[in-house]
Amino acid sequence: MSSTNSTNVSSFSEKMGQIEDSATLSVMGTIKGLIAQGVDIINLTAGEPDFSPPQCVNDAAIKAIQDGMGRYTPSAGLLELRETVAEVIGNEIGISYEAKNIVVSNGGKISIVQALMAILDDGDEVLIPFPSWTSYPEMVKLAGGVPVMVSCDENMLPDLDALESACTERTVAILLNTPSNPTGVVFSEDFTRQLGEWCLAKGLRVISDEMYCSLTYNGAKHYSPLVVVPELQKTSAWIGGMSKSFAMTGWRMGYFAGPADWAAIVARIQSQLTGSPNSISQYASIAGLKNGTAERETMRLEFEKRSRLITVGIANIEGISCPEPQGAFYCFVDISRLIGCTDASGITINNGDDFARLLLEVDKIATIGGSAFGGQNHFRLSFAAPEKELERALAKLSSRVSTLLTSGKNSAQTC
Ligand code: GLU
Repeated sequence: MSSTNSTNVSSFSEKMGQIEDSATLSVMGTIKGLIAQGVDIINLTAGEPDFSPPQCVNDAAIKAIQDGMGRYTPSAGLLELRETVAEVIGNEIGISYEAKNIVVSNGGKISIVQALMAILDDGDEVLIPFPSWTSYPEMVKLAGGVPVMVSCDENMLPDLDALESACTERTVAILLNTPSNPTGVVFSEDFTRQLGEWCLAKGLRVISDEMYCSLTYNGAKHYSPLVVVPELQKTSAWIGGMSKSFAMTGWRMGYFAGPADWAAIVARIQSQLTGSPNSISQYASIAGLKNGTAERETMRLEFEKRSRLITVGIANIEGISCPEPQGAFYCFVDISRLIGCTDASGITINNGDDFARLLLEVDKIATIGGSAFGGQNHFRLSFAAPEKELERALAKLSSRVSTLLTSGKNSAQTC
């Protein structure tokens, strides 16, 4: 007897069985749910600005709705938006694109997956330096490719020797991300040149995720590999979007920019998937890109202040460490010294995930365990949260680490 409620597990795709849930979104979702129920949790999970988008964005969206603009748009996005995106990339990043090079999508994630789908055949390999954003390997798998995870060096920068060793005849592309989620590292000009030239020499397509390009701090400057090594532009893609810099995470607006032939295939894929990106968000994005940059800068300055607060705060906690984030809004905190310590609650710290669990269960601070990003002895903390919450979190973190170090000694380990 069959029922519509029963499922035969073996009938699901084996390929999709290999895809992990997004760790960031699932933890974030759980925490938001608990907060909605009234649980007092300091939420440092989300890579999500706690600000409102610029007023012009909200106004343009309301106007678009009132003017009846909630219709399909061209698959690649509205011409005016694509022209605006091209102009912004030209002015702010330094790559000359036209509308035909741009495809607007419902979020940077779709932009990356579609870019991968357009270039990968089954079994093609994509290099991913890690620690990296949790979604990259799954995106490569979704597009039929094989993610090849390559450990970064001790400065959390892609390691050229390790990349060289990981390259095979099936390697077709590399996913780069500066400023980095989860480490906050920003590539210097020199490093970007070395890396870009290596990619060019190997004939790799670069998918350069620069979603956080306008969020750099304390004098750090953003360098795109596609600008520092311009020859890469012929074969590489640039990814950006509205989510982080304009506080528009839920509006889902990302963009692909690349060679016209690659953009045409991405647009074709999109025409069969989402059809076209959300029209109201597109009108809002045009307004944001044209008139919202002053508010974007106000938000950046606020993140910069918070980055200092959190860097100094963590530097003052004996037992954990974190390089100063130069961009994005994450700290990737090293807890190696706490390995082997056991808390009074009974949680033993064997890795960064254990420590994140301890912080959540005992101190009600929600972060993301490092394994989601390929960092064994780390956890990621987002400082896209109000200053007061960050101060509360730092105080609790400090006392938790000091308690662990003084009374959490495991006889076999020195904490
Ligand atoms: N990119 C953000 C993060 O890493 C948002 C969640 C996601 O899509 O991963 O927190």
